[in-house]
Amino acid sequence: MKADIITIFPDFFRGPLDYGITRRATEMGLVKIEVHDLRQFTHDKHRTVDDRPFGGGEGMVLKPEPIFECLEAFELPAREVRISERAASRAKQSVILLSAQGERFTQKVATELAALNRLVLICGRYEGVDERVADHLADRELSIGDYVLSGGELAAAVVIESVTRLLPGAVGNEASTRQESFTAHAPTREMPGSDGPDSTCGSGGLLDYPHYTRPAEFRGMSVPEVLINGNHQQIRRWRREQALEKTLRNRPDLLDAIELNDEDKKLMSRMRRGSRNPISPMSSGRRPTTDD
Ligand code: SAM
Repeated sequence: MKADIITIFPDFFRGPLDYGITRRATEMGLVKIEVHDLRQFTHDKHRTVDDRPFGGGEGMVLKPEPIFECLEAFELPAREVRISERAASRAKQSVILLSAQGERFTQKVATELAALNRLVLICGRYEGVDERVADHLADRELSIGDYVLSGGELAAAVVIESVTRLLPGAVGNEASTRQESFTAHAPTREMPGSDGPDSTCGSGGLLDYPHYTRPAEFRGMSVPEVLINGNHQQIRRWRREQALEKTLRNRPDLLDAIELNDEDKKLMSRMRRGSRNPISPMSSGRRPTTDD
């Protein structure tokens, strides 16, 4: 994959892309990331990239000309071609404008992007970007969440990192990316999204189950008993139960979007009947909620 980032702060990316899996994927040649200084596509002596908004109002707006010229230098297929290829699921490239007004960036979108071979990420600043970029240049606008950042750079780094770790070979143990939160991987065992050792279960689009490591006892806090008893079936059931419970507690909206299997439904109805009655004889070790 090739990823081009367009920004007025190219040095911003020195840190975020130089660590962990993104760095590893770059070194392995799985992804090539190039950061482009938008000011290099200006023609005046002040290298002006912004101007006042038509109609009045606060702040400055990123001008369209340097962004269009930068994209032209990449020699990508015309936007209409990219859009029609996308509609036919044959898209290979995507030009993305990072914007608080964009569609929500999710794991599903990250998975779609990981299937492409070229991403162009345009980082806005100030009050935003001249709307002609969204209307005539970008294939999609993406928002990383319902809050306003000062610029698209952090958002671009978020997109790059989450997409890069989905590229085949980027993460040492690929099963781990298939089992993570939000990942609706095709079921391979009795549990939805299951893939890996018998004691694990995929999230199936929910939140991941809780993880623990040594020591088993730390400052009076114990690891749940079930995890050290060696019974893989029990461990997997416990993990599924915990994933369901955490999703119900922190992200109930996710439950609306997935189909639960019969065992999940039984666990859920037990949970809904009341958290005062433990949902499992096995200790969950979770924090009490206001419902308790
Ligand atoms: N006036 C804009 C609004 O109210 O929607 C906010 C502009 S923001 C201060 C400047 C730039 O930060 C945007 O052009 C965009 O590139 C980036 N940005 C801000 N919030 C973002 C978000 N949630 N996701 C992605 N990019 C964001």
